Amino acid sequence: MIDTAREVLKKHFGYDEFRPLQNEIIASILAKNDTLVLMPTGGGKSICFQVPALVMEGLCVVVSPLISLMKDQVDALRINGVGAAYLNSSQEFQEEDQVIEQCLNGEIKLLYLSPEKLKSSIPMLVRFNIQLIAIDEAHCISSWGHDFRPEYTQLNILKERFPDVPIVALTATADKVTRKDIIHQLKLKRPNVFVASFDRPNLSLEIKGGVKGKEKDREIISFVHRKRQQSGIIYCLSRRITEDLSEKLVASGINAAAYHAGMSADERNETQDDFINDRIQVVCATVAFGMGIDKSNVRWVIHYNLPKNIESYYQEIGRAGRDGLKSETILYYSLSDLVLLTQFAEQGQQRELNIEKLRRMQQLAEADICRRKILINYFGEAFEQDCGNCDVCANPRKHFDGTTLIQKALSALFRINEPVGVNMLIDVLRGSHKQELIEKGFDKIKTYGAGSELSFNHWQQFIMQMLNLGILEMAYDEGFSLKSTTMGKEILFGKKTTNLVYPVVREVKKTKVVSL
Ligand code: ADP
Ligand code: ZN
Repeated sequence: MIDTAREVLKKHFGYDEFRPLQNEIIASILAKNDTLVLMPTGGGKSICFQVPALVMEGLCVVVSPLISLMKDQVDALRINGVGAAYLNSSQEFQEEDQVIEQCLNGEIKLLYLSPEKLKSSIPMLVRFNIQLIAIDEAHCISSWGHDFRPEYTQLNILKERFPDVPIVALTATADKVTRKDIIHQLKLKRPNVFVASFDRPNLSLEIKGGVKGKEKDREIISFVHRKRQQSGIIYCLSRRITEDLSEKLVASGINAAAYHAGMSADERNETQDDFINDRIQVVCATVAFGMGIDKSNVRWVIHYNLPKNIESYYQEIGRAGRDGLKSETILYYSLSDLVLLTQFAEQGQQRELNIEKLRRMQQLAEADICRRKILINYFGEAFEQDCGNCDVCANPRKHFDGTTLIQKALSALFRINEPVGVNMLIDVLRGSHKQELIEKGFDKIKTYGAGSELSFNHWQQFIMQMLNLGILEMAYDEGFSLKSTTMGKEILFGKKTTNLVYPVVREVKKTKVVSL
């Protein structure tokens, strides 16, 4: 049968060879095993169920969460001469009847369904000759994942209603907990689990802390100018940022547009279409953008702010370089991103889980070991060597004895003796003359100005390290004020020494940029 599969691959998709694991996955499905597939975005998951569907007799039901995605896939299949159709809540009855008719006649090999449509469709589905059920974006079933969708939980009835039909669940992002949960919730029977490598060696990884406001905008604009016509996406934390930034880009002569959920569906489709067809070079978008768009030549992805977890980061950078060619990714983050994201996580559902996921993201952003190592290890795959294609590998961090520096910061904090945040602490250390500081009398304390030799930005980076090392903690519930931990006290009282890492000295770009 696997030979037939290869013929189908050639005939309908025009490819000569399967990619690593596709072969094994297809063989598992054809042998009627439940199968779980973890493969990064762009890895080629669709082929894994589309090819078996064409090799098998009967019909394959595909559950897919996004109507737009569904339509694109069905259109693409039809162009390749495959009988495909979809059912979702946006259709007219007549259209639906026609699809049902075609399914009964055996004209349809792949029937796409939205999860909310599934439950009501069961009486109809039992009349079809279903041979395979594929569940795309399967992590949406797990509340441990990063994109839980309540409609997905209804999929647990599939195994009961179709006990003899193999299920293949596919996802691009699932840590070990989510993986177990998918198997449990879908009631998969001794599934074969395939984990493709999550490494995307063609993507360079760079993470930059502490670049703020205008400086960040200037850097990005000059970056985009250097990229000439190459397509890229800039992910932003808020709708307002997407609009402000795209305006600035346009003002500097770049063909850019904003994209966020507050725009009308028409506007969004138009922007997406313009981007796919290279009429727009840059999209400044919220996370609403990108799911299911298949644009292979995105050459770079910038994060204007810290993503809320590693799964999102991975998925978003993964939109670059799907054609396998070298592509760049840059993430900017600042303490204020962290403060804001923490607030979101505090207010939302699943507070503890989301805070923990954010902390892992923060650790990645502030790491002084190979970024890729951390990223790939996060997905449970051992990755031991340094990658040579991230900013830490390119610029190994240098350590120094930071004890005195830490003592200055902690001593200032103790002498201030009331809740203060990062900015105020740095202002005191640097001897700022800000009004609020003077009014509070902080200029009278002994450590006022004791750290004036360091820039604000460097102090920020050191304080971030102190937070990471567990020397300081941030009282999220008390106005984000800083507190010393027990370890901090040990350092302050000379019982312990600690190394810090030199801040990365950013190269100053000489390129002339249009002023903002
Ligand atoms: P995923 O769903 O995992 O994000 P897709 O199924 O959309 O990925 O596949 C990504 C791209 O790789 C598509 O353009 C697809 O046609 C291509 N592709 C998949 N399998 C192969 C293969 N065996 N040979 C060449 N290209 C492939
Ligand atoms: Zn590296």
